[in-house]
Amino acid sequence: MKPQTPPQTYRVKSFGCQMNVYDGERMGELLAERGIVPAPEGEEADLVILNTCHIREKAAEKVYSDIGRLVAAGKEAGKAPLVAVAGCVAQAEGEEIMARAPAVSIVVGPQAYHRLPEMLDRAAQGERATDTDMPAIAKFDALPARRKRGPSAFLTVQEGCDKFCTYCVVPYTRGAEISRPFSHLVAEAHKLVEAGAKEITLLGQNVNAWAGEDEKGRTVGLGGLIRRLAQIDGLERIRYTTSHPNDMEDELIAAHGEVEKLMPYLHLPVQSGNDRVLKAMNRQHTAESYLRLIERFRAARPDIALSGDFIVGFPGETEAEFADTLSIVDEVRYAACFSFKYSPRPGTPAATMEGQIPPEIMDERLQRLQQRIGQHQLAFNRASVGKTCTVLVERKGRHEGQWLGKSPWLQSVHFTGEHAIGDLVEVTLAEAGPNSLGGILRQTVTV
Ligand code: SF4
Repeated sequence: MKPQTPPQTYRVKSFGCQMNVYDGERMGELLAERGIVPAPEGEEADLVILNTCHIREKAAEKVYSDIGRLVAAGKEAGKAPLVAVAGCVAQAEGEEIMARAPAVSIVVGPQAYHRLPEMLDRAAQGERATDTDMPAIAKFDALPARRKRGPSAFLTVQEGCDKFCTYCVVPYTRGAEISRPFSHLVAEAHKLVEAGAKEITLLGQNVNAWAGEDEKGRTVGLGGLIRRLAQIDGLERIRYTTSHPNDMEDELIAAHGEVEKLMPYLHLPVQSGNDRVLKAMNRQHTAESYLRLIERFRAARPDIALSGDFIVGFPGETEAEFADTLSIVDEVRYAACFSFKYSPRPGTPAATMEGQIPPEIMDERLQRLQQRIGQHQLAFNRASVGKTCTVLVERKGRHEGQWLGKSPWLQSVHFTGEHAIGDLVEVTLAEAGPNSLGGILRQTVTV
């Protein structure tokens, strides 16, 4: 490869989960340390980072077509952008990407992107660089201070997964579960609040597996961390995602009843309502144990909104087993859900299981599931009408004087009034649709 001129501008294209969005922001902060700035809207960047997601269907193929598009767009603009592939596809298929895509200069895994600046130096010398090591804590230590500005910010507290659900690549691409130290997280949360964050969402593949030692040397779980973060002045809202039912501790459940800043919302994937399917998925819980857990959250915080993840058409899923999934949706009455058709991930045990379900059956089941979920979502939103709650203003709406923000239950709320992004306002919810609510402004709580 020819030596490359050091890039002046960059663009990160993040796909997939919130963890990737966080990683994308952190890569941007690393590049900013080097004086590399985001490319202006509409202009081709000197450096493009494809921050990939392995959960996407045909993930690797999509990366190759994205690379092709980038190179073509660069040529048209008279540029040859430096292309880096990051994220979970880079981790899982880095060597093959280097072999098949000569336009790629850098392949960097999710636990190694703190070394991106050195890799850029190597690219400037004309070398191609791959780094898919997994020293997760070293990454966080090496990242620069947070620069994020905005009312709502992500904070990764935990990474990796030891659960090995049979359909999932995360344990292979993100590695074993690790928890970032308590003191580092408190310090980073302070920085985010100083930079304007009013809401922090704690992230982790198994966020509730987080554990650490607090300032007094006591071992605490996520509930203890949340209690400490709630003491930060100026931080108004705390959320966390994604949790596994088996890592739920009493302390975290209790925090939902006692910590005012912890929002009444829980994303707790179940994937299926049928015990045979759950066992084949290696979820290590039953439908019943999941439901009992939900009951405990509702006892601690009666107005809590629940969301879940579902996979339809897991290998061998019968019509009766799918009906159990519809039943659990009815029983929990989710406020929101993410639902997908099963799609085999190379290298996972489920990919070679017998009884792969034909696509047309999966399509039909997904449609029925989403219809049922939609009914509950609308019912949840309608039941919110008449409540007065806080809304964190996130952006302007489409109409003059209209603003959009999130309720404590993570619903999108629009209202009209004189406001600014980052204001926390009190709104009475007045009308409900399936995906959003309209509200009437009462007052500004904090500015
Ligand atoms: S708990 Fe299961 S689905 Fe979630 S990241 Fe771990 S292996 Fe994947």
